Amino acid sequence: MMKRDKNLSVLLDQVGTGKESLSFMRRRIRRLAQQWATAANRLDVKLEQRWRDQKKILVHVGFLTEESGDVFSPKVLKGGPLGEMVQWADILTALHVLGHNLKISMSVKELQGFLGVPPGRGSCPLTGPLPFDLIYTDYHGMQQMKQHMGLSLKKHKCHIRVIDTFGTEPAYNHEEYATLHGYRTNWGYWNLNARQYMTMFPHTPDNSFMGFVSEELNDTEKRSIQQDKVNNMAVVYGKEASMWKGKEGFLQILHRYMEVHGTVYYETQRPPEVPAFVKNHGLLQQHELQQLLRKAKLFIGFGFPYEGPAPLEAIANGCVFLQPKFHPPHSSLNHEFFRGKPTSREVSSQHPYAEQYIGRPHVMTVDYNNSLEFDSAIREIMRTKVEPYLPYEYTCEGMLERVHAYIQNQVRTEPGSAGGGRITGPLFVPLPNSTAVSWASNVTAPTAWPPLSSLRLLVSQEGQSCVEACNSAGFICEPAHFRFINNKEALRALEVQCEVVDSEINHILPAFSVVRRECGLQREPLLFSCAGHSPKYRRLCPCRDFRRGQVALCRDCL
Ligand code: UDP
Repeated sequence: MMKRDKNLSVLLDQVGTGKESLSFMRRRIRRLAQQWATAANRLDVKLEQRWRDQKKILVHVGFLTEESGDVFSPKVLKGGPLGEMVQWADILTALHVLGHNLKISMSVKELQGFLGVPPGRGSCPLTGPLPFDLIYTDYHGMQQMKQHMGLSLKKHKCHIRVIDTFGTEPAYNHEEYATLHGYRTNWGYWNLNARQYMTMFPHTPDNSFMGFVSEELNDTEKRSIQQDKVNNMAVVYGKEASMWKGKEGFLQILHRYMEVHGTVYYETQRPPEVPAFVKNHGLLQQHELQQLLRKAKLFIGFGFPYEGPAPLEAIANGCVFLQPKFHPPHSSLNHEFFRGKPTSREVSSQHPYAEQYIGRPHVMTVDYNNSLEFDSAIREIMRTKVEPYLPYEYTCEGMLERVHAYIQNQVRTEPGSAGGGRITGPLFVPLPNSTAVSWASNVTAPTAWPPLSSLRLLVSQEGQSCVEACNSAGFICEPAHFRFINNKEALRALEVQCEVVDSEINHILPAFSVVRRECGLQREPLLFSCAGHSPKYRRLCPCRDFRRGQVALCRDCL
């Protein structure tokens, strides 16, 4: 077992100083140090004396480098986005607390130093072995590594993890396929295994869910929060004035029932978008925001920002989160914000995780165009009693458990060989009276992770993705299991009538057309996709079970 840096001073030294973004991250790391320590102790007990490899890990935070333009740091105190910094601070802390040998780089110079590229030889490719087991970076960092590692980036690709807030679907990630079929964006096509992209929320299971943490309350704090709740106090989600633009109507209705608070950044005067009846506190420090949320009953979103940490913090502090449903859903096909992002994920509300994974009574997702519905939601919230709630996967222990499991088990195959493992003569047996099919024990893949015992085979409806198909049966799509179901035996086990079985490059496959009796298997493992769907095809879906409150892990995954 590795020694623990209890007050995280070693980590804080490594993070460094000199920019508002770094100060924000340092404050966060310091504030949560005790929670991390407690969580680490609990995880130790849970994992017993299980062996854990200590990895050499480089974290290169590309978006905070001067070379990428660092547009974030100057906005930290001005209402700019903080979600990314929350997540990076938590990733750094989790890796550190798990006891890995961590190096942190926030400039290209440091990156070069760590990779052993001589200074002044910008394009000199790294020679020799990679001095790290794992590199966590982001899309900016990928560009920088490409520039400075040259060809060897390709060779070392399987060691890379890309922190990617909104996610990258396989069709966008595969360079040639993306180029040929209209999925090419400014971000994607790195030809990684899609599980190497790590997201902020569990979006498409094609990617890995990295997440972040929110503060956890003990029972005494929970009780005192419930006593001190002010039933008619609302806090508006949105620290930048532009997020309030055009929302007067809703604010007026809200103000009929509640005292409205805001945390909008301003310089000298109240921003014109924020009505006079709103009590605006200005941008708060994180711990001050927590205090405000502890008193408030309602945290209300007006549609932007999408999928940030703040609603989880509000719910953890006993607020109800009220948010707009999006009709039709927002996506890269119809919405400016998502345009050019390497995903066609449909965002059904401001915060789909809150909607789908938490829901009532903590979260209410309503049609804001219907003022009656909006009005009655507010009244219902004032009447409802809710307890503070934080899903396990957003606690420090939950994040440590997940990151530990990834580091020890995930993506052990080489890049480009997403299909692989040593499986001999797979045989599949359908379970009678069940839509999900579980596999017989004579499929041997001792190194598979998640373990094969978690696999359930399912067929989607026409037009349905495997994300939806698995969800509707109470499972989650598991891309690592595609390689076990991409074969004729699986089609046979499902009694699919195939006149022909082709092997092609298409992110919908494996799938079949009922009408044409055509079956297709996947020829390019990088294109195994939970997200893909097509109106003409029913897909073969590899689903798995998951732990309640820790969707990233199956029952036997630890
Ligand atoms: N936050 C803050 N002060 C405020 C409002 C928010 O420090 O006045 C923090 C909040 O605690 C959260 C972070 O900003 O952890 C990011 O929140 P948000 O959901 O707004 O996401 P963003 O759009 O900034 O990525």
